[in-house]
Amino acid sequence: MRLRSVIESELNRLITFELEDGHLIEAVHYRGDTLCISIQVGCHVRCTFCASGRRGLIRNLSYGEIIGQYEIARALLPVRRIAVAGIGEPLANWENVKRAFEFFRTQGLRVSFYTSGFPLGNLSELLDLPHNGVSISVHSLDPEKRREIMPLGGNVLHLVEFLRLKLPKLTRKRRKKVSLAYLLLKGVNDSEEDLRRLGLLALELGVGITLLYYNKVGDFEPVPEEDYERAFRLLRSMGVRVTLSTRFRKDKLGGCGTLTVDRASDIYREEVKV
Ligand code: SF4
Repeated sequence: MRLRSVIESELNRLITFELEDGHLIEAVHYRGDTLCISIQVGCHVRCTFCASGRRGLIRNLSYGEIIGQYEIARALLPVRRIAVAGIGEPLANWENVKRAFEFFRTQGLRVSFYTSGFPLGNLSELLDLPHNGVSISVHSLDPEKRREIMPLGGNVLHLVEFLRLKLPKLTRKRRKKVSLAYLLLKGVNDSEEDLRRLGLLALELGVGITLLYYNKVGDFEPVPEEDYERAFRLLRSMGVRVTLSTRFRKDKLGGCGTLTVDRASDIYREEVKV
């Protein structure tokens, strides 16, 4: 693989790598020290709010291609943290992700994950690793709605049952590193009833909530800023630990859900704007 390009905004740097078979994947350097890396070429989950899964899964990245993103980026930029939160579902390329995690640890890096939660057996292993944060994408506790948001993201009721059994087995300290990620979508999952149900689950599980801001990619609409704050206040008033999307994650360049496969290639130039 080789470095193809680095595009900078005020906040983020979008790094594109070209793989041996010609596919282009992306990573983002943000916060001055964090590299968000990709795990697959495409993604089978096909979340309707995310550009990464638009064409489904093309293939897994090899171990060498996962750590290669770090090896190339660190020659250009300081990297102290890895966020496994770019293109792809880490649990669906689990053997290579586990190996890469071990490698990153030997480099003294802090490693955090975003996952849609399936397969649950792999999620169980992930939660047992000495990670620095796992955010599990819930987005709705209503199975119908969640299927609309994450068509191949698995049954949310099975995910909740799994968490009810698994999380009490973790120490309180380890549980604090787990959060439920929730992307607020206007008129879809932002009602008071939706948020109260989410808050009660977080309290029951003893985990926090990461409220994510939607970078408009698909047909959904982001909630207005005041509704985003209202959701934050409501959850806080219930006693839930809440983290908000940082401005880096909201950036149009490399923010959540904006990474894509083969963005600049001749094949797709017509279809995907650079
Ligand atoms: S949000 Fe994550 S799981 Fe969903 S399509 Fe994008 S990369 Fe895949």
